Amino acid sequence: MADDADVIVVGGGLAGLVAATEVADAGKRVIVLDQEGEQNLGGQAFWSFGGLFLVDSPEQRRLGIRDSVELATQDWAGSAGFDRDDDHWPRRWAEAYIAFAAGEKRSWLRAMGHRIFPVVGWAERGGYDAMGHGNSVPRFHVTWGTGPGVIEPFVRRAREAEAKGLLSFRFRHRVDALGMTNGTVDGVSGAILEPTDAARGEISSRIVTGNFLLRAQAVIVASGGIGGNHELVRQNWPSRLGAPPARMISGVPAHVDGRMIGVTEAAGARLINRDRMWHYVEGVQNWNPIWPMHGIRILPGPSSLWFDATGKRLPSPLFPGSDTLGQLQYIQSTGYDYSWFVLTQSIIKKEFALSGSEQNPDLTGKSWRMTLQRATNKGAPAPVEAFKQHGADFVVRDTLEDLVAAMNALSGDNLLRLDHLRTQIEARDRAIANPYVKDTQVMNLHNARKYIGDRLIRTAKPHRILDPAHGPLIAVRLNILTRKTLGGFETDLDSRVFGQHGRIMPGLYAAGEAAGFGGGGMHGYRSLEGTFLGGCLFSGRNAGRAAAAAVG
Ligand SMILES: Cc1cc2nc3c(=O)[nH]c(=O)nc-3n(C[C@H](O)[C@H](O)[C@H](O)COP(=O)(O)OP(=O)(O)OC[C@H]3O[C@@H](n4cnc5c(N)ncnc54)[C@H](O)[C@@H]3O)c2cc1C
Repeated sequence: MADDADVIVVGGGLAGLVAATEVADAGKRVIVLDQEGEQNLGGQAFWSFGGLFLVDSPEQRRLGIRDSVELATQDWAGSAGFDRDDDHWPRRWAEAYIAFAAGEKRSWLRAMGHRIFPVVGWAERGGYDAMGHGNSVPRFHVTWGTGPGVIEPFVRRAREAEAKGLLSFRFRHRVDALGMTNGTVDGVSGAILEPTDAARGEISSRIVTGNFLLRAQAVIVASGGIGGNHELVRQNWPSRLGAPPARMISGVPAHVDGRMIGVTEAAGARLINRDRMWHYVEGVQNWNPIWPMHGIRILPGPSSLWFDATGKRLPSPLFPGSDTLGQLQYIQSTGYDYSWFVLTQSIIKKEFALSGSEQNPDLTGKSWRMTLQRATNKGAPAPVEAFKQHGADFVVRDTLEDLVAAMNALSGDNLLRLDHLRTQIEARDRAIANPYVKDTQVMNLHNARKYIGDRLIRTAKPHRILDPAHGPLIAVRLNILTRKTLGGFETDLDSRVFGQHGRIMPGLYAAGEAAGFGGGGMHGYRSLEGTFLGGCLFSGRNAGRAAAAAVG
């Protein structure tokens, strides 16, 4: 039987698009299959904030940040904590990825028209020693145009390849099985789903109208992770993070269903590090949801006071923006799956950003005028103000008495005591009087404001939380929000997938989140952030180039 294409790509997200365009650029024929409709092209990356991890970039240097491959490697090692035999390929991918992030990544993207917002963000700051988790320096480079700006060059290249007859899309094609002849993967089969007019990101129907079978010399699995499937998240939940949360909200659309991971594993592929995942603890329910249980992650600046459900301040160094999984582990140890930020209007105005392209119309719409208002505006950005007004997790009051009463009413648990919160907040407020302090969170504020990017748009001038001049007071109930799958299919540096017997499965490649962003988990246990989109770019590129070179 004649092949339908040289290469088949399963998934039209970022990793799939990058892989497919590389195949087409090499002059080979490629089919991209996606279970969703055409309106969903780009997958999760469209919704993303577009933050990219770069090392020693011109943007960093212009802000006086001294970064290097050595420093990034040290930070990566401290965060990843590689400690398993299965970490052989993840380690190799991490090394290769850091070299990419310090080298070709920026210029490769730039040549395709990608641009970066000049203020570099400082995500996952850690708070342990120099060899511990976290970024020693700001490295989070936000794409001008956020998520849509990340996918734009690849959608454009795919459409050009489509016009040349090298690439074709098959939307509403759900792959249910891999085809194999004599141990070589050579096709896919599955169900054709009924057409959908669901808007991008919305859940679509799974009604089957037909079947398909397609053949090619190579198949690249780029089907994303499991974050939209809470049952799978709970099944794979590691005991080191405590019990799986009873209640979670979703930071990803429903198509991130993990189904294709099971299909690929059933065909014999080796899935490793399935217990490693990256979920956030600063999730708020979207008052204007697009997908089921839609949650938005607050990208917090460093000043909000953080209390667990019982009203105890989180211990040092678990301050906003420091150590996502450390916070998750702590919160799960309290027996409640939520926590609280308490802050002021001055803090929310300067420090709250919401992760997601639709929550940042200024950056997504590439409007300098609107973006500059971040530094000059009296209020918070409009999407943050909208959450403050309509969000189910937000409480705004003038006095601490009223705030605590409203927090108790919101949770329904009645765990918070006014005097307990007041004592802790007043103690922290006393630490504002001097520039040298004992309270490590306040120490961090002084440290952060030495970085011009933070002083400009990310860290409020230190002030007393209970100073009415900075009010009103705001409390935000924070939920656990599912997002990224750090484990995945074990791959070599050409993105070729290993089988359960430990040998490469001929014809099979994996990229993006399905491959743990490379190797089956290049992050190890923790991430430095901005490394997911980058992992899709790098592993998708490697998969596309290698598959194109391998097919005759
Ligand atoms: C709100 C948000 C903000 C984010 N911000 C950032 C950020 O700032 N920086 C960063 O680095 N990362 C960020 N991320 C993470 C990043 O966007 C994702 O990890 C990345 O886009 C995953 O891409 P992917 O191509 O691997 O998978 P996906 O985007 O999930 O694409 C997979 C595609 O495969 C299709 N598919 C799945 N199964 C099948 C099947 N059986 N048959 C056919 N098709 C199938 C799906 O429909 C989907 O279209 C963010 C994510 C979100 C949701």
